[in-house]
Amino acid sequence: MQVSSDARASIRMQDGRYLLFPESGVSKSRIFVGMHPFNIMAKTIGAVCNLNCTYCYYLEKENIYPADPNRWAMSERVLETYIAQYIYTCRTPEVQFAWHGGEPVMRGIDFFRKIIELQKKHGGGRIIENSIQTNGTTLTEEWCRFFNDHHFLVGLSVDGPQHCHDHYRTYKSGLGSYKKCMEGLELLVKHKVDFNTLTVVNDYNAKYPLEIYRFLKSIGSRYMQFLPVVEWIDPAAGPGELKILPPGSGKNAEVTAWTVDPLDYGTFLVRIFDEWVRLDVGDFFVLTFDSILANWMRVEPGICVYAETCGNSGVMEYNGDVYSCDHYVFPAYLLGNITEKSLSTLMNDTRQERFGEEKKSLLPAYCKKCEFLDLCNGECPKHRIIKTPDGEPGLNHLCAGFKKFFRHVEPYFDFMATELQHGRSAVNVKKWASAPIIKRRK
Ligand code: SF4
Ligand code: SF4
Repeated sequence: MQVSSDARASIRMQDGRYLLFPESGVSKSRIFVGMHPFNIMAKTIGAVCNLNCTYCYYLEKENIYPADPNRWAMSERVLETYIAQYIYTCRTPEVQFAWHGGEPVMRGIDFFRKIIELQKKHGGGRIIENSIQTNGTTLTEEWCRFFNDHHFLVGLSVDGPQHCHDHYRTYKSGLGSYKKCMEGLELLVKHKVDFNTLTVVNDYNAKYPLEIYRFLKSIGSRYMQFLPVVEWIDPAAGPGELKILPPGSGKNAEVTAWTVDPLDYGTFLVRIFDEWVRLDVGDFFVLTFDSILANWMRVEPGICVYAETCGNSGVMEYNGDVYSCDHYVFPAYLLGNITEKSLSTLMNDTRQERFGEEKKSLLPAYCKKCEFLDLCNGECPKHRIIKTPDGEPGLNHLCAGFKKFFRHVEPYFDFMATELQHGRSAVNVKKWASAPIIKRRK
């Protein structure tokens, strides 16, 4: 599994300050792979990957495009059409490209050199930034020199220390990929490549929150994204059919064994938050925490799953087909192909607008009257696979965990928001949170 399209807009405040850490001076859009107000993830080689992670939702997408004569490799014609259209479509001064897979580096380094050449050809003097999400196992000196030369931001998929990482992130042989992933990381560090980490939180590693958080800090990850895995499959699907289903489909669909338990997920976030809020605010960045604080302060969160509506994060397959979201690469969510219609037309299609609006409009009544609605917004529609206590469908599988986390963090975010509103630093929360409870006065 690669990064989700969760990372979308920045959380820059309207006056241009950065919400949490104005002193960091780092562009939020350079922190997490894929962030952009109008964001497309491009798949350079479809779902092709050298690993076979148990929980990967993307590998089986080969079933949508069976028997491709070019082995699902993006052609230069599609690439140039995409680069030209995307630069034209983006109205921001910086144009951010996000390359994903499968394993995108399997498309080869010459293809990425072509990307740079075409971006220069069509860039018209605009600032162009590139990010790539990789499992790290096939990185070489040459790749890392290339990333450094062209200022790529690399998102590394790592699920924690070896016993966590190797639990699901395996080769087709069944062997774990941790060792090779760490070799890739060493090369990134050696060549001074900017990187962040994506950790998929599943039924196994959710039980090791602090071990994972401390491990990520120890390998130099300052920017962390935790992505809960919630998958819904049709056990009766035959060979060549899609097993993973969108919410609401498949009469006999089942939650997978690797799906994270809701309360485990809540505990996972709480434990990491407790260490972060006392020791690490301002030094280490956790996208979920930033986003919830943004919602607390009524500014746009940096992650689409916590936004009120979505629909700005499309995904483009290797052949130019554009879908509503990386989590919705299903035939019913195909918007069209960029060689037939412009990217702008596809992303502004009424179906896509409806897709984004339905994140809000299809919330069950239980969510609409929830005390945490402003923070949660029902999270991702893809995870809304259970029924509410009164039997209405469409509740998020992780609801109980969210409530546990929101309840726990309320006083801390309240303090941080107050500090920011008074022009002080949110980092002050570390001292406040570390004081005995009786002394905590604003
Ligand atoms: S469905 Fe919406 S909220 Fe979920 S990942 Fe896609 S864009 Fe984000
Ligand atoms: S916490 Fe649960 S009930 Fe509240 S908005 Fe989120 S998913 Fe809905």
